[in-house]
Amino acid sequence: MSYVISGECCSDASCVAVCPMNSIHPSPGEPGFGAGVSLFIDPRTCIDCGACADICPVDAAQPADQAAPEDVERNAAYFAEREPLEATDLDSWEPPAYQVWGDGPRRVLVVGAGPAGMYATRELLLRTTAEVTLVDRLDQVGGLVRFGVAPDHPRTKQIIDTFERIVGHSRVRWLPGTDSTSLTTGYDAVVHAVGARRSRRLGISGEDSACTAEDFVAWYNGRPGATLPVQLTGPRAVVVGNGNVALDVARLLLSDEDQLRQMDVSPDVRRVLAASGIKEVVLLGRRGPETAAYTETALQELLAAAGDRVELRFHARPTSWTSEGLTLESGDTIAAGNLFTAIGFEGQAVDGLPFDADRGIVPNVRGAVVGRPGHYVAGWIKRGARGGIGVNKACAQETVTTLVSSSRAAASPGS
Ligand SMILES: Cc1cc2nc3c(=O)[nH]c(=O)nc-3n(C[C@H](O)[C@H](O)[C@H](O)COP(=O)(O)OP(=O)(O)OC[C@H]3O[C@@H](n4cnc5c(N)ncnc54)[C@H](O)[C@@H]3O)c2cc1C
Ligand code: SF4
Ligand code: SF4
Repeated sequence: MSYVISGECCSDASCVAVCPMNSIHPSPGEPGFGAGVSLFIDPRTCIDCGACADICPVDAAQPADQAAPEDVERNAAYFAEREPLEATDLDSWEPPAYQVWGDGPRRVLVVGAGPAGMYATRELLLRTTAEVTLVDRLDQVGGLVRFGVAPDHPRTKQIIDTFERIVGHSRVRWLPGTDSTSLTTGYDAVVHAVGARRSRRLGISGEDSACTAEDFVAWYNGRPGATLPVQLTGPRAVVVGNGNVALDVARLLLSDEDQLRQMDVSPDVRRVLAASGIKEVVLLGRRGPETAAYTETALQELLAAAGDRVELRFHARPTSWTSEGLTLESGDTIAAGNLFTAIGFEGQAVDGLPFDADRGIVPNVRGAVVGRPGHYVAGWIKRGARGGIGVNKACAQETVTTLVSSSRAAASPGS
């Protein structure tokens, strides 16, 4: 499935800036843009990330299965005679605008090869002649796209191919398996794009024997070193949280062997999930359905896969977790063999940088770290753990714009 743009579109191009795949056309500067017709989404390259729908001011971007059939046809027809655009063709996005700092290429360190670090790298290649050193403590690019996005969403993971091509650029030095703390100085600027993968905690008694979304998701996605810290015990599990990650967790827990076989999971993961005996999931939200953070598409997907085995409970606050089950503020206990917590992620302090512990971010102004000239942030460590893949593109672009302007000011004082 892809996303589709309807005739309601007012062509303000907000979605173009956040589309991680360059799938939306005509974009500013292309023939046809501004001629009063809607933009279109190329169904061959769209990865269903939903960033266009999140940002569209008039709800014109929608999943194809919720759009009118004529809109689906209109979008596909626009691209019928066109070659799919290479999202990584660094010149196809817009003409390169080289920004030479002082007397030539400089060295920039990007820490973290998740979406934010990859888009920051791409933007630096497009806008400057800098040499980029890119490091990640893991051996592969992708961050949470590789080790967070659910294994039954292979289309969303396609963007990893794009990231892999970016690291092959001649001005990128890619150092996999490198922790930023092992690096010495010698860079003109550092972009910290280290994400925010640690699960928030509920703060209830017994929580230590529950499983966090961080651990569960890392395990089923095969992140190196990740293990499942609990034994899965049916027939019922409780998942606390009402975002898309909570729904991912519920969907995976309720997948049967046939469904698991279609997914990109290891045989071990498949065996443990299939043998779990979990037949029912209670999804618990602290507030009402009107504040639920999951998207309609994610809810429909869960209900389609296992609707009769999912119970949505709202206005329920857990107070303790024991082998009997989860006790709520109301006094009720939900009998269950496992508790999963999926109430959001938070950033951790970065060595040598200020940290706002309440928001889980490094304080910054448009990406420039407050009080640390030469240091920048992008992605979840800059904005907090919110927003899908596409939002990191506009976020990284803002950071690199700030970086380039500060460098220019430094290279030509007074200009
Ligand atoms: C479980 C889950 C599922 C999701 N599913 C979707 C989805 O289906 N669709 C969607 O659009 N969005 C999804 N998202 C959101 C999306 O993954 C995030 O928007 C995005 O990954 C944030 O990008 P980032 O680069 O800031 O962080 P990350 O993706 O976390 O990348 C940070 C990178 O920095 C590296 N790193 C950290 N510290 C260091 C260090 N000290 N030295 C070196 N490297 C370091 C990490 O290894 C990692 O590779 C999901 C998120 C989660 C948690
Ligand atoms: S923003 Fe995401 S959903 Fe929208 S067109 Fe681009 S890839 Fe598809
Ligand atoms: S954000 Fe919405 S209105 Fe704006 S160009 Fe995209 S689809 Fe059209």
